Amino acid sequence: MQEILRAENISVGYKHKQVLKDLNLDIEKGKIYSIIGPNGSGKTTLLRTLSRNIKPSKGKIFLDGENISHIKNKQVARKMAVLSQIHGSNTDVTVRNLVIYGRYAYKEWWKGDNEQDKDIVDWALETTNMKELANDKMCNLSGGEKQRAWIAMAIAQKPEILLLDEPTTFLDINHQLEVLELVNNLNKQNNITILMVLHDINLAAKYSDELIVIKDKDVYLKGEPWEIISEKNLKDVFNINGDITKDKESGKPIFFPRLAR
Ligand code: ADP
Repeated sequence: MQEILRAENISVGYKHKQVLKDLNLDIEKGKIYSIIGPNGSGKTTLLRTLSRNIKPSKGKIFLDGENISHIKNKQVARKMAVLSQIHGSNTDVTVRNLVIYGRYAYKEWWKGDNEQDKDIVDWALETTNMKELANDKMCNLSGGEKQRAWIAMAIAQKPEILLLDEPTTFLDINHQLEVLELVNNLNKQNNITILMVLHDINLAAKYSDELIVIKDKDVYLKGEPWEIISEKNLKDVFNINGDITKDKESGKPIFFPRLAR
């Protein structure tokens, strides 16, 4: 298996607070990974560091084998797209124009949109089921539609890997599933590697090939859902008890949480 993203001994912090310490992580091409862990354990910090939004105080990050700090922004954007948790959605920009921004990674400043850009924008709108809403303004969309529009913009970059920070936040359960099905299709049909932060452990288990548990400033556990979702680990990481069964649809583990006493 070929790796697409690797963190080598990274340490990250804010002013006097160290959040991650000597962390190592390998992300293989073609898989879906979810980062889980207690609040404040550093999941968002890890994602922001891997996407070059935060510079680690120590260590290196490699994107497709190249040290990310030596690659130009546009080059990074052609391989990696990032959807952060907080983005303004109340603008009156149309969905289509938002998605066109995704093509900027491929543009020289003196060139306008070409046929290929138009085809890719159409493909991104189609793939995310946003074609009919293409001329609507972002501020008039529902939460689920907004999220699909942002995903359309991200995939218009034609990335090999997509990083998403809690893409289901603020969505009701039906729309959470819709967004995760879309992410799953992007992986299966377009071979985009997915690395996302998810707070719902059951949904993370259902949609991921591997789970990455962040705790004690490091990758505490990493493996397939059935390796990670055990009574011992739920107690250890989240301080909960749980009855674990098998999800009929996905064959993945699912649990009913109970407060540990
Ligand atoms: P998680 O995503 O697991 O909830 P975060 O990565 O958001 O965790 O945060 C990890 C720790 O770093 C928390 O203690 C948080 O308060 C702190 N932190 C996050 N962002 C900042 C920031 N911009 N400045 C200072 N501290 C921060």
